[in-house]
Amino acid sequence: MLRQPLRILAIGAHCDDIEIGLGGTLLELARSEDVEVDWFVLTSTPERAQETLASADSFLGRHGGQYGSDRVRIHDFRDGFLPYQGIEVKEAFEALKAHVQPDVIFTHSRDDSHQDHRFVAELTWNTWRNHLIFEYEIPKYDGDLGPMSAYVEVSEEHVREKWELLRRHYPSQHSRQWFTEDTFRGLMRLRGVEANAPSGYAEAFRARKLLMDLVPRSSSSEAGIPVFAGVSEGLSR
Ligand SMILES: [Zn+2]
Repeated sequence: MLRQPLRILAIGAHCDDIEIGLGGTLLELARSEDVEVDWFVLTSTPERAQETLASADSFLGRHGGQYGSDRVRIHDFRDGFLPYQGIEVKEAFEALKAHVQPDVIFTHSRDDSHQDHRFVAELTWNTWRNHLIFEYEIPKYDGDLGPMSAYVEVSEEHVREKWELLRRHYPSQHSRQWFTEDTFRGLMRLRGVEANAPSGYAEAFRARKLLMDLVPRSSSSEAGIPVFAGVSEGLSR
């Protein structure tokens, strides 16, 4: 039982990061739960931004409706240079903070070896101090995958759909040697083994900090969010 609607903020440094890191999780949620997703991407080109707009709609099962471009915010900072545009990027985070009230935030891992990913993770933790934050993983050349602490089972159907949507919406990435079905399926299969997932597949996240509100307090408990009760209520209380 999740809060209805569950408000999710998904943050990615690059246009396809959100889909790669939590595409299966978004498919699981968007196909069965009432969710509101704010989609926030920092770097893009005009071509890649168009790819992301279409991709976000497909992953959320909506096609130009209320989850159209008004909830998908795509900046055009320079790929690979995010930490060196720090002031402007931090201002973008601050501006977003004024417009969203997420229950759950998905962002890059602070241990990610890619400088753009790591910087986005740091700014996420800087910007939202009272929120449940899960860090996702991106397979890549740097070889920085490691132990994870939270898992979401992904059905075989959604494993296939995740790749199908990535392939369909990101032709700009087709020439990359890692942009293949077996890369994404393989990682989800390994995480599925770790999670003992009945489907065999899972996406994995790092839950770096959780507040366990074991004794509900009337002043802090908000009806309808038992799964995330406490952890979404405030880490710094
Ligand atoms: Zn990336």
